[in-house]
Amino acid sequence: MIILKSAQEIEKMRVAGQVTARALAGVAAAIRPGVTTAELDRIAEEAIRKEGGVPAFKGYRGFPGSVCLSVNDVVVHGIPGDQVLHEGDILSVDIGAVVDGYYGDMARTYPVGQISDEAQHLLTVTWEALQRGIAAARPGGRLGDISAAVQRYVESHGYSVVREFVGHGIGRKMHEDPPVPNYGVAGRGPRLQPGMALAIEPMVNIGRPDVRILPDGWTTVTADHSLSAHFENTIVITETGVEILTRA
Ligand code: MG
Repeated sequence: MIILKSAQEIEKMRVAGQVTARALAGVAAAIRPGVTTAELDRIAEEAIRKEGGVPAFKGYRGFPGSVCLSVNDVVVHGIPGDQVLHEGDILSVDIGAVVDGYYGDMARTYPVGQISDEAQHLLTVTWEALQRGIAAARPGGRLGDISAAVQRYVESHGYSVVREFVGHGIGRKMHEDPPVPNYGVAGRGPRLQPGMALAIEPMVNIGRPDVRILPDGWTTVTADHSLSAHFENTIVITETGVEILTRA
């Protein structure tokens, strides 16, 4: 069941999105060769709590970190720890905050120092895929319009979209209906209506789409160990288009 949000609820989600975005900016500023993922996790948690929020991922189904930190071929759900970042790595930061009962959820993939042209191209394409997905969302349209726009753009660059993990509705829970796949057919799926809040989040691999979950039960890597990137925003469908809620 898709839960439409009232204006008051959207205002709360705006606040949660802003707290999330500011915390992510703090993490981004600390990314450099030599820093550990545990240190970035600590920065994220402090930033969220300082603004009265709670890290959404901490303890979620037992997840041990406050944020997901996924390096290179890790697609999503990397666990913060003593891993040291190196020049040339790419780091996906997936961060969520719950403020006054409402969730914000977003992700960005960052370069660590100088990265290869190939890695930079992956980041550029995945970012643009998110923009295409958001641009395809409008009241009266269909959910499949978003999915198809993401898939078409990614595959036109020879990259692949991950199937096993998808975007989602969001609100008083982090994961609500509907699922928002990064592949699909335009004109299909639920009709988009004002008040629908969605986390749109392309996960894009340079190589094949297949992923594997490591024995820790969380860390998800590309099966062929190709690089993977992840960009996400929480948005709400409005009367006239879309509002991005995860903005600082
Ligand atoms: Mg999400």
